[in-house]
Amino acid sequence: DVRVRFAPSPTGMFHVGGARSALFNWALAEQSGGRFVLRIEDTDAARNRPEWTAGIISALAWIGISGDSPYFEGPYFQSAYEAQHREAAALLRKDGRAYHCTCTREDVKARTGSEHQGYDGHCRDLGLTEGALRFRTPDEGVTVVEDALRGTVEFPNDAMEDFVIARGDGSPLFVLANVVDDVEMRITHVVRGEEHFSNTPKQQLLWRALGHTPPIWAHLPVIVNEKRQKLSKRRDKVALESYRDEGYLAEAMVNYLMLLGWGPGDDREIMPWSDMVPLFSLKNVNLSPAFFDEKKLRAFNGEYIRALPLDIFIDRCAPWLDPAWDRETFTRVAELAQTRVAVLSEITANVDFLFLPEPIHDQPSWDKAMKPGAADILSGYASRLETVNWDPESLKTALEEVGAEHGLKLGKAQAPVRVAITGRTVGLPLFESIEVLGRERTLDRLHTALA
Ligand code: GLU
Repeated sequence: DVRVRFAPSPTGMFHVGGARSALFNWALAEQSGGRFVLRIEDTDAARNRPEWTAGIISALAWIGISGDSPYFEGPYFQSAYEAQHREAAALLRKDGRAYHCTCTREDVKARTGSEHQGYDGHCRDLGLTEGALRFRTPDEGVTVVEDALRGTVEFPNDAMEDFVIARGDGSPLFVLANVVDDVEMRITHVVRGEEHFSNTPKQQLLWRALGHTPPIWAHLPVIVNEKRQKLSKRRDKVALESYRDEGYLAEAMVNYLMLLGWGPGDDREIMPWSDMVPLFSLKNVNLSPAFFDEKKLRAFNGEYIRALPLDIFIDRCAPWLDPAWDRETFTRVAELAQTRVAVLSEITANVDFLFLPEPIHDQPSWDKAMKPGAADILSGYASRLETVNWDPESLKTALEEVGAEHGLKLGKAQAPVRVAITGRTVGLPLFESIEVLGRERTLDRLHTALA
């Protein structure tokens, strides 16, 4: 039975790279009817915060990974298993696979003459009963790691130092705790970020020393920005929550994240989760860095928004509409807005002019639109609007005629009218907007602009 896991450390906002790893694991669990174990690696008390844990759990649920699914197991908290980690350390010590060591960094440096030299094995056979616990690595030969993406990789054992698995106070290190939990949770595939590849030979030695067959390893390619730099939380927008809060749809996000390193094998890009799951395979994951292209993600999101049934689109817009704004009025422009926004948060600026007593305008747009002659257009149009038929076609013809009287094409004549009415230079189709705004309010705004 396939048992995969996702093992985040709750030390910050939940990263899009973490979300990609989680989704690849989720696809493996779902396609095989296996299990996805969520394990919160919360052993670094100084850096953990409960709100980061809550953030991870809610962000995962947003992209569809939660206890609502039969494939989900957990969350487990690593800190609850410290007794097992200590037990494993004691067992390795008893079997002679690990030994205590009291050397300081300075001691090692004094002996080897270098800061970068690994541990020299000084305490190996001293039979000490206290100090940090080091795992005794083989002196010769190679440790062979089979990685589902990289194939067979050999790590020479003489380059692998006797590494620390528990501190002097007995508290276990990541490298051990992570393996012990994977063993206990009967994990079959460890699919995680490339940054952990260098831990893998050590961890594989630990799996064997604890008497178990190592899992299938797969280390996913790094995710980079447009400058080919590894995505970083200081430089790039990496928090999954920030995409959610800007009005990205979970389905678009999931689709896009799945394509960071994987593809269905043809040129399809927009495809629902249910189509991707059966096609997903670690063998098709590309090793080269995956470019996180925000522009492309936006384009995906726009496509997903346009594909929503209108009533669902209207529901999804709710968080970006003031609850005091009349739903009926919004419904009248929703279809026009749906084709124009790439992220849902953009809806607000497209429709606020319908609900606010005065349109919000910024001075540069205003000045740009209110060229000399603009006043003639506004007043000419205002007088037509007193009597014109209130439908987009007639509203348009009226403005065409006013423009013609002043030697202006429709496009030029529209600019001051749009700014006077909506406050902005771009937005929903103008004459539909005027129709919904109504005669009285439109006239008010034209007169205000003229004053
Ligand atoms: N807690 C580790 C991390 O967040 C997990 C590594 C792993 O998946 O094994 O990087």
